[in-house]
Amino acid sequence: MNYTIQQIADITDTEVIGDKYLSIKNIAFDSRIIYSTKHTAFVAINTKKNSGEKFIESAIDRGINVIISEHHYPQFENVTWIIVKNSIEFLQKLAQFHFEHSKIQSIGITGSNGKTILKEWLYQCLWNEFPTVKSPKSFNSQIGLPLSLLQINSAHQLGIFEVGISMPDEMQRLENIFHPQIGLLTHIGTAHAANFTSEEDLIDEKLKLFKDSEVIIFNGDNQIVFNKINSLYSGKKLISYGFDEANDVRIKNNNSKNENVVVQYLGEEIIFPVHQRDEATLINALALITVLKQLKISNEKIVDKINSLKAVEMRLEAIEGIKNNIIINDSFNLDLDSLKTSLQFLNEYKKAKKSLVLTDIIGVNANSKELYGEVSELVNDQNFDTVFLIGEKITQFKYLFKSKTFTFIDAQELIDNKHLTEIENQIILLKGARKFQIEKLKDLLELRKHDTVLEVNLNAILHNINYHKSLLKPTTKMMAMVKANAYGLGSYEISEFLQHHHIDYLGVAYADEGVELRKKGITTPIVVMNPEQHSYDAIIQYNLEPEIYSLRVLELFYDSVQKSGFDKKYPIHIKLETGMHRLGFKEYELDQLIQSLVHKNLTIQSVFSHLSSSDIPDEKEFTMKQLKIFEKNSSYLIEKLNNRPFRHILNSSGITNYTDYQYDLVRIGIGMLGESSDFEIQKQLQSTVSFKTVISQISLVENGESVGYSRKYKTDHLTKIATIPVGYADGIPRLIGNEVGNVGIHKTLVPIVGNICMDMMMINVDSVSNVKEGDTVTVFNSKPSLKEFAGYCKTITYEVLTSISPRVKRIYIKD
Ligand SMILES: *Cc1c(COP(=O)(O)O)cnc(C)c1O
Repeated sequence: MNYTIQQIADITDTEVIGDKYLSIKNIAFDSRIIYSTKHTAFVAINTKKNSGEKFIESAIDRGINVIISEHHYPQFENVTWIIVKNSIEFLQKLAQFHFEHSKIQSIGITGSNGKTILKEWLYQCLWNEFPTVKSPKSFNSQIGLPLSLLQINSAHQLGIFEVGISMPDEMQRLENIFHPQIGLLTHIGTAHAANFTSEEDLIDEKLKLFKDSEVIIFNGDNQIVFNKINSLYSGKKLISYGFDEANDVRIKNNNSKNENVVVQYLGEEIIFPVHQRDEATLINALALITVLKQLKISNEKIVDKINSLKAVEMRLEAIEGIKNNIIINDSFNLDLDSLKTSLQFLNEYKKAKKSLVLTDIIGVNANSKELYGEVSELVNDQNFDTVFLIGEKITQFKYLFKSKTFTFIDAQELIDNKHLTEIENQIILLKGARKFQIEKLKDLLELRKHDTVLEVNLNAILHNINYHKSLLKPTTKMMAMVKANAYGLGSYEISEFLQHHHIDYLGVAYADEGVELRKKGITTPIVVMNPEQHSYDAIIQYNLEPEIYSLRVLELFYDSVQKSGFDKKYPIHIKLETGMHRLGFKEYELDQLIQSLVHKNLTIQSVFSHLSSSDIPDEKEFTMKQLKIFEKNSSYLIEKLNNRPFRHILNSSGITNYTDYQYDLVRIGIGMLGESSDFEIQKQLQSTVSFKTVISQISLVENGESVGYSRKYKTDHLTKIATIPVGYADGIPRLIGNEVGNVGIHKTLVPIVGNICMDMMMINVDSVSNVKEGDTVTVFNSKPSLKEFAGYCKTITYEVLTSISPRVKRIYIKD
């Protein structure tokens, strides 16, 4: 978009205070991810749950000087204000105008599953055919869709937008602002159906998106959908796809022995190779083909494009680098959109200095000068210390980059040059098109090189948190337990990510864990569950909040507070004993506790307890008793206090099994990592941790030979044995050797044979064809799952995770 403030005010019928002639090209809504302040307005979005107005100050601090808000805050000077009645309606009105006055061809995707993947696939297939704009991430809501539409600019010819709804009437409102020419309806499942009286109501609402569409492409396997679309929209061009025979587009031949799949597309057949044949992939491929055909892409190109889809992995990884650098590796693909995403990702880190390695953008028809002009603008906004440009094209525009800039023909020339390895204490973004192979630079800059890694998927953590939140009232706060190095995953990395996503509280076991987080810049309130006497001074110095569980601890801690000269009320948390018999005040101690608190300059921030068996269905009666004692004793205590502390008792399984007892806050731990003891809940969660390694060597062991220490395994035929570099020193219990435990290769489980060594073990890979040295081996993730692996070890998932040795490198993944 590109409007003056006056134009925006005219379009949306709003009031301006300040400079009416500034022009606005971007709207930011999250003050933490503003990647450019030039021509950018910050909109403070007010929802039922949250007010964006509390972030106005931080947006202004970042250099924004145009604020769109429901209220005017005159204390901020030199700022232009657009004062709106309702922030969401404002966005929708502006987006509607903008969309209706754009000349793009538009694709609107809705449905329950597969929207985001289809949007990303379509974009990957189409961006070098037409200048294309798409919704970022899964921006599909009442707020996300308008923000996505506002990204359309005059150069775009095609727009791909995702539209999601969860409530009645929402589609109607979205259709008012966005009426796609090509409508794509993916699978409709029962997600969100809860808010509708019936599945039919949900379908009716979704179909409203296509009121003005010319073509509707839809998954016709659902009979209700099939019938409804055919009766409601009989005047439009309709194309159904799916597994059923009745569909216009379907799989004709899916013989798994044959590499190719034959697709029947109306009257013709299209043959393309597939590597993955799961239903979801195939059905998405059908939808993709149908849309591409609509856009008149030739069959030959379609096959090519589908082939190269596989090759594109869309992910960023953050790795510890040499010389205290952080390396952000995004060497999988490069276009303007993904460059923006990486720059945003970069902003989430607090390293003061940063450098960039950037290559040519491949395969775009745009005018180079314009393209690299835009690239340099994005880059210049970031104040990089050094910029390294690689490639024939981009290096011609060196003069556009304001930082210290060096140019190279290819990655090798940069490696040979000493500059890169001299960088210290910075964050280095590697961003390049695949063909430049800048992952070679990653190998150069990476600190520890191990084949064995623990990969932590941060998106999955967010998904799991949001799933648990969806069960709770919007006002219930959440504390994330990051004790014991965040269950072994990395306390700082997890806390930093959670802080970024506005977690209300963090919980650690010991003071030093909290101190470490504070030293690295975590400012979220932190509760210390087990404050040891020697650490009271550190607790006070680093503004940590102790759990107080006995009169002895109360007196001793208060002593330290007074000695420290702290002159305000110090926040503490009172732990009540309700049946776990670990730590806490017992019922008979309450009066004494109240007596003792009366004259102390302390704030009782919260009163809480802990359930011993919230994951054990058979212990429901006991748990209810704990909850009852908590209700009674906490009420008694609170009545006698002069402030109103918040209350909490639920851990992860408490959240899912005893949701009614959420009080003011819940404490999530293992649930955030995707584990639940309840099978139904487990299905809703995503696996966050992947422990993997690679095969060091494969040996053909003759019949009758032995493998490993003490000759515990003897072959009874010629056997293929693989050695993998992970052993009991990495946290794999020795007791799962000798065919007790399995690991996964190519999605097949294979047994661990012989005794596990300190740093290695051997596995029998006879059952896996095509296995070779260097292949990935999964210790746990999906096959075997963490739970299955814990089963081999005869323990619980918690112990497995916290036992993984620190020498195993942790890698953090974000999409
Ligand atoms: C560890 C811990 C939790 C989290 O337990 P999960 O079962 O992992 O959800 C909650 N509360 C307290 C006091 C804890 O120590």
